[in-house]
Amino acid sequence: MSDIIVGIDLGTTNSAVAIVQNGRPYILGKEDQRIIPSVVGYSKQAGWLVGRPALNQYVLDPDNTVRSIKRKMGNPENVKLGGREFTPQEISAFILRELKAIAEEALEQPLEKAVITVPAYFTDAQRQATKEAGEIAGLEVTRIINEPTAAALAYGLNHEEDQLALVYDLGGGTFDVSLVEMSGGVVEVRASHGDTQLGGDDFDERLAKHAAKLFTKKHKVDLKDNRRALARMNRAAEAAKIHLSDLTEATLREEYLAEKDNKPLHLEAKVERQEFQDMIDDLLKQTIKSIDRVRQDAELNVADLNRVLLVGGSTRMPAVWDMVADFTNLEPDAEINPDEAVALGAAVQAAIIAGQPVDSILVDVTPYSLGIESVKIVAGNIIPDQYSVLIRRNTTVPVTKEETYYALYPDQDTIEVKVYQGESSIASANTLLGDFTIEELKASQPGKLPSVNVRFDFDVNGMLHVRATDRHTGKQANTSVQATQARLSPAEIAKARHEISSLAAIGATPPSANVILDEEAQALLDRGRALLKDGSLNDEDSADLQELIEGIYTAQQSGDREELDDLLEELVDALFDLE
Ligand code: AMP
Repeated sequence: MSDIIVGIDLGTTNSAVAIVQNGRPYILGKEDQRIIPSVVGYSKQAGWLVGRPALNQYVLDPDNTVRSIKRKMGNPENVKLGGREFTPQEISAFILRELKAIAEEALEQPLEKAVITVPAYFTDAQRQATKEAGEIAGLEVTRIINEPTAAALAYGLNHEEDQLALVYDLGGGTFDVSLVEMSGGVVEVRASHGDTQLGGDDFDERLAKHAAKLFTKKHKVDLKDNRRALARMNRAAEAAKIHLSDLTEATLREEYLAEKDNKPLHLEAKVERQEFQDMIDDLLKQTIKSIDRVRQDAELNVADLNRVLLVGGSTRMPAVWDMVADFTNLEPDAEINPDEAVALGAAVQAAIIAGQPVDSILVDVTPYSLGIESVKIVAGNIIPDQYSVLIRRNTTVPVTKEETYYALYPDQDTIEVKVYQGESSIASANTLLGDFTIEELKASQPGKLPSVNVRFDFDVNGMLHVRATDRHTGKQANTSVQATQARLSPAEIAKARHEISSLAAIGATPPSANVILDEEAQALLDRGRALLKDGSLNDEDSADLQELIEGIYTAQQSGDREELDDLLEELVDALFDLE
């Protein structure tokens, strides 16, 4: 009998199994099995289906396929499948048995023990049902742990000093937010709140509805009663949504979605990222309300938080990162694959129970932000030398990101793309990696501004491939440059992040400054920078001072003497208080 204990994330949408080997947690399974859909189906031809094949069948035969069984755990209601009745535990057991088989194949030995995760809000009955599902699958459930606790363990928070972390978990079908407290190596959930009916599926549905409307308008065909077409529409919407996390536009495509007068009708609907974000804005705002609710339940202020961990596949959406960062005033941690973090944490817990030593997870990241030079227009004035970030520092590689940029004038036919690495908001204060020009730009209509999509592909070898595409003509120009890469643990990343955030404003005086500072102003700035560097300020004062110094640079850049004088005066007052 094997003493190995595996960690299992039994999710509403997807599930995974992990183990600690040689001190480090790993997800088990071949490339296409690392994360399996939590779907079970029955097909007359193929028999019982679990995971990806079951999800594929859902599109063809939704009536013989069960999704989201986790929502029914602990509920006495049975589920019908393949002409038989099953308890939710039994359906979950199909998924657990599949995960057990994946792990046994990877480790080449039988396995009998597992740690399984559940949402923090699960009742005793739901936890008991999860345990039973494990037993039906032939697994002794050594412990049931909370998902946010697992996420905190994956991020190694149990090794750090007392910390308060917010775990924001937005998956396919559910949303949870928890406040997790670490104290003396013990991780505890202090408050938790969520919405069991909110997740990526809802975003897919909004996008699918939008595309269905366009389809009906174009072809005069209503898909309302065509379940199969709607399921395929949802699948196309999910694929487009995933693209929109990296790219600024995507197309929902399905061949032969329906037919009319014996002629096939194909779906092809283009959607822009902004348009999609507007469609789901109210849903994302609901998640922020939940954060506030948890904060109130725990009687804490946002400023008390030390870390924010992003978990769940849907947190890959850039709008989520931005919104959570804005609300908490912290740069969220998202280095560990968000749909693997819970399983990895379950494996860490399993190793702790088994008395195995555990090292931190290491991830390949971009240690500096990567972006291009752009201009900002403030009250009709053009402010040059701005840094527009495409890939934020500490993003896991490989990664692809794309943004849209507009020319300044309708007749502008050339754009120079200057690629930088660094953290200063002033482009030229960062390290120039390379540049190229895209020419013969054309606007979509006379009088409109030409625009380009700039795409950054950072590969595993640290090469950054940059491509600019004229959005109207499709003409392209590109370059490849070597960027800096690092292998760090989440704890090292958090430390680097903290250090850099206080250094970001301390860049060199921008070389292309429009206003030359006099000696007195320069000395004031030097004093400000020294204060930021010596680490004596608390976070709030440090952020305020940093903002002030950045404002001075911007005013200097734009040649706004009045603003510059006002800000320098503010700096005198601030230094008086702080020193
Ligand atoms: P989880 O339940 O954590 O496995 O998350 C699954 C959800 O994450 C599904 O709704 C996916 O469509 C969604 N998802 C996965 N990758 C991405 C991505 N890159 N952008 C947006 N959503 C994603």
